[in-house]
Amino acid sequence: MPADDPTASPAARLAELTRRLAAVERRIDVAVERFAAVRPTLIVVSKFHPAQDVKLLAQLGIRDFGENRDQEAGAKAAELASDVAVPQDLRWHFIGQLQTNKARSVAQYAHSVHSVDRVSLVTALSRAVLGVKEATGPAGRPDLQCLIQVNLDPAATAESKGRGGALPADVLALAEQIVAAPALELRGVMAVAPLGADPEPAFAALAEISARLTATYPWATAISAGMSQDLEQAIAAGATHLRVGSDVLGPRTVLR
Ligand SMILES: *Cc1c(COP(=O)(O)O)cnc(C)c1O
Repeated sequence: MPADDPTASPAARLAELTRRLAAVERRIDVAVERFAAVRPTLIVVSKFHPAQDVKLLAQLGIRDFGENRDQEAGAKAAELASDVAVPQDLRWHFIGQLQTNKARSVAQYAHSVHSVDRVSLVTALSRAVLGVKEATGPAGRPDLQCLIQVNLDPAATAESKGRGGALPADVLALAEQIVAAPALELRGVMAVAPLGADPEPAFAALAEISARLTATYPWATAISAGMSQDLEQAIAAGATHLRVGSDVLGPRTVLR
């Protein structure tokens, strides 16, 4: 596997992940204390890293994992679901740009989608989750938790959306669609800080958008923000979910 030394033994990799995870948890502790914040949920972004790493992190108590490509996520989720040595309460968070034709696949394994950014995707996800529910019966999957990805690039327009996401002005209308859609649950907002810009104003803007959303939908309190580089700034701005990849798992140097 790319960034990981393929010759490393599982024990050595477990030791490395233990050390890296502890360092990230310490950073979170310090920021939570400093900003008197509520401790956010740590989602470990496992993209480009093997299912074996997810298995080791599950041994370390992690249950929330983030993926940004359906094919990779679906394969990992299926591999781990059939492994009796893996706890079966893992939650897969889909955090990448999502095409509507992947909705049916994502509905098979995802607990949440953080990258809901347009009405056509809401419709596709609702239909897909309903399909899974019908196929699996009442004990089947719960409603899919949906976060609206917001584009925080101040230069973003409907034509150039940069790193993806709905424009801030479109968030409430999209929320209304999610709330009206069967089998979906509106959870909150998500954003990636614009590349090369100070994350602080971006996360402050996200907090304001979240406040506007919860004024209408008081339960939709999730704020998914903060990655390896900017988790402190995200905690300062009230993040409820962090999405941390490389600082836990190491660099993703080679594409598969
Ligand atoms: C890859 C990714 C992350 C994790 O980024 P790191 O810098 O590795 O922590 C978080 N959010 C999204 C949307 C991603 O695609």
